[in-house]
Amino acid sequence: MTELRWGASSDVGRVRGHNEDAYLATPPVFAVADGMGGHGAGEVASALAVRELAPLAGLPTARAEDVTDALARANDAILAAVTRGEGPPRMGTTVAGAVLVERGGLLHWLVFNVGDSRVYRCDGDALEQLSVDHSVVEELVLAGEITRAQARVHPGRHVVTRALGSDPPPRGDQWLLPAAVGDRLLVCSDGLFGEVEDSAMAAVLREPDPQRAAEGLVAAACAAGGHDNVTAVVVDLVGGASALDGDTLPRSALAGPDGEGAP
Ligand code: MN
Repeated sequence: MTELRWGASSDVGRVRGHNEDAYLATPPVFAVADGMGGHGAGEVASALAVRELAPLAGLPTARAEDVTDALARANDAILAAVTRGEGPPRMGTTVAGAVLVERGGLLHWLVFNVGDSRVYRCDGDALEQLSVDHSVVEELVLAGEITRAQARVHPGRHVVTRALGSDPPPRGDQWLLPAAVGDRLLVCSDGLFGEVEDSAMAAVLREPDPQRAAEGLVAAACAAGGHDNVTAVVVDLVGGASALDGDTLPRSALAGPDGEGAP
C-alpha cells in the first residue's frame, strides 16, 4: 500500500484582485492550474482543468491516458464556456502535475504539463525541474538567445506558448520516472518560482512537514512581492512501496515527452 503525505497552499498574492490559480491534491493526483483571461475568467478556466482531473482522485493509481483524456475534456470545456459567453475568447489555463501510475508492476510518477506551471523534485538541497515550460522565454533560452537569469526578468516571461482553452487543442507533455520512498515533489504556479529563487525554495523545502512547507513557500512568494497568484503543492512518498524501492530502475530513466525515449 502506497503511503503519501502532502500539503497545499494558495494565495491571491499582494497585487491581484482574484486568485485565478486552482489545485488538486488528492492521491494519486497532484496538480496546479493557473488561469488567465482577466476579470475573473481565469478562475473559470483553472477550475475546469481541476474538475476534469478530479475523477482520477481516489484511484490507487491512474493511467497516462486518463490524464491525456482529462486534459482534452478540460480543453473542450473551456472552449464550450467561451462559446456560451462565460468568458473572453482568450480565456485559458496552464496545468501541471504529477500522478502515480503503475508501469511494469512498478510505481512511477507521471509528470504532465501544458503551459508554465512547474513540477520539481527535491533532491537533497537542490531542486530539479521535471517539467519543461511552454513559454516564450523557455524557447529563447533553448535557442541560446538569452540566459536563465535573463529569462527571470524578461518582459515576455509570462507569455505561454501552450494553454488549455486552445483550438486546435494543445499538445501536453508527459514524463515518466520511477517513484521511490523518500521522493518529494513540488507542483507550483509561476507566482512562486517567479518571485523566489530555486535555492530559496529549496531552503523552505527542508521543512519536513509537507503542509508547513507548502505554506512556507507561499509566504515566501508573498514576502518577495506577491505580484501574482501563488500556489504550491508538496507531496512526499513516505512508504509502502515494497516492490518499488527505487533501485530496480535507474533514477535517470526519465522518458521524454509522451514517453518516447530520453530527452
Ligand atoms: Mn501565474
